[in-house]
Amino acid sequence: MSAPKVALVSGGSRGIGRAVVLSLAESGHDIAFCYRSDEQSADVLAKEVHDLGRRAVATQVDVTDREAAAEWVAATAAGLGVPDTVVTSAGITRDGAFVTMTEDRWTDVLRTNLDGVYNVCQPAVFLMLKQRRGSVVTLSSVSGVYGNPTQVNYSASKSGVIGFAKALAKEVGRFGIRVNAVAPGLIETDMTAQMTDKAREKLRAAIPLGRFGTAGEVAGLVAYLASDRAAYITGSVFEIDGGLVV
Ligand code: NDP
Repeated sequence: MSAPKVALVSGGSRGIGRAVVLSLAESGHDIAFCYRSDEQSADVLAKEVHDLGRRAVATQVDVTDREAAAEWVAATAAGLGVPDTVVTSAGITRDGAFVTMTEDRWTDVLRTNLDGVYNVCQPAVFLMLKQRRGSVVTLSSVSGVYGNPTQVNYSASKSGVIGFAKALAKEVGRFGIRVNAVAPGLIETDMTAQMTDKAREKLRAAIPLGRFGTAGEVAGLVAYLASDRAAYITGSVFEIDGGLVV
């Protein structure tokens, strides 16, 4: 029997990250995932992974804390092994009109969605370089591909993640490390649950497939990109949005 792979997932306790944790566990990974505050959800998920016959370690780590992220990566390598797969799903929105967007809203989003990716990936990729293999998948958004009004901060952070993936793919491909970005459209998670019914209906009407996506559908794509079936795919951006017309 081949040794289990190891995956590191940021923002794994809820939503897309949670579905990614379960998909990667099902495809043979032991999992280290982090969350910011929701310990209860994290504990429930860790138990679900154990029930699938895989090891799971849930750790409270704020990805904006560079030192804490580095400690988490080091502890994962020591406890489970060097990650074969890294998925950055931790992300937030703080929407509002640009001209009145406070510095807090700008900084919170950039620090979580972009600095957080750097903080988690740098120590992980350093370890992957030594073992000369690995796959990084970072969660961007259609908002980062096309731009979205009232999301200037979020769109900037998610475009940044695309540049990050493309540049890093070129830098580390020769070491056997692949880096890709996934750009979901509207997915049913807590992040989209706060919308009014009117806003949801308007957005749904712009989706040719006529519905929001599920976290599981995004996780299926992430798990594919992490697998050897995607061995020749790197530096790419994958939209998963039901054909959303922007
Ligand atoms: P959710 O709000 O459902 O979950 C966010 C997750 O990120 C939670 O596990 C949360 O932990 C964690 N998190 C947030 N901030 C931090 C932090 N500073 N440090 C560590 N963990 C943190 O989000 P989604 O699942 O909807 O989104 C996941 C990713 O996909 C995000 O990057 C998002 O931008 C992107 N995306 C989502 C779309 C959607 O329609 N839902 C569309 C396009 C992209 P805790 O529970 O402890 O707060």
